[in-house]
Amino acid sequence: MRLQDKVAIVTGAASGIGNEIVKTYYNEGAKIVIADLKGAEDAAKAIDSTGRRALGVTMDVTNEGQVDAGIAQAVKTFGQVDILVSNAGIQTVAPLDQFEFAKWKQLLAIHLDGAFLTTRACLRQMYKQGTGGCIIYMGSVHSKEASPLKAPYVTAKHGLIGLAKVVAKEGAKHGVRANVICPGFVRTPLVEKQIPEQAKELGISENDVIKNVMLKETVDGEFTTVEDVAAAALFFASFDSNALTGQSLVVSHGWFMQ
Ligand code: NAD
Repeated sequence: MRLQDKVAIVTGAASGIGNEIVKTYYNEGAKIVIADLKGAEDAAKAIDSTGRRALGVTMDVTNEGQVDAGIAQAVKTFGQVDILVSNAGIQTVAPLDQFEFAKWKQLLAIHLDGAFLTTRACLRQMYKQGTGGCIIYMGSVHSKEASPLKAPYVTAKHGLIGLAKVVAKEGAKHGVRANVICPGFVRTPLVEKQIPEQAKELGISENDVIKNVMLKETVDGEFTTVEDVAAAALFFASFDSNALTGQSLVVSHGWFMQ
């Protein structure tokens, strides 16, 4: 039980990677808060139908009022916040010269405004508690590398590394650590949606998108799994010292090597 009685808030946790992280944290003894646009309450009930150690909070991470109210609800329910995983995200693909400004702004808002607003609300609580804390950002190999068609995503994911470094510096005296996990491709709804979209944009088959675009640079042609990413999220959450802060960890079957 590496997270006994810790309280963890994970955004975008009704689906995919975030959902696996809350399950892993729950199994390690944490009280979990699933914050999502939709499906948060059902996802919380699916993990703990008694509601004693799981809370669903409907929240748009780009909305300041909803984020502050959601974190306040989490604190009211469980008394504290020890871990934030800023994970909510979307993907939109298009060539830069055809990218709609509204879609660019929407993606940056979810990834960056969402990370900022949830970080600020949790830091205020963590500083008040005086018991330290752990903030994890869901970056991507695209925090380190670029791919065509993904301008706002690559921009936002690089930006999260900057944010984590500032949180690491400001948070240190309060015992708050911040790190970034950078997964390769994981077969979640976010990626399933991209396969036909990329096939269309690039004029190749869906199988070629998987083999020759998504997994081409990996060491073994394999997708990263939600379990792989959740294991990294558990490692960061249970590493209880400022020795490991301001870092980014790539979990990608060797697609990107530091
Ligand atoms: P997913 O689509 O399965 O889950 C994303 C969740 O975020 C959804 O439940 C969605 O409702 C929620 N969300 C979207 N906008 C939101 C908003 N404004 N407010 C609150 N919640 C919102 O996707 P996933 O693959 O699990 O992605 C999770 C994170 O992992 C994202 O940040 C993504 O960029 C990152 N990531 C994914 C991959 C991959 O290959 N799947 C790789 C690297 C990084």
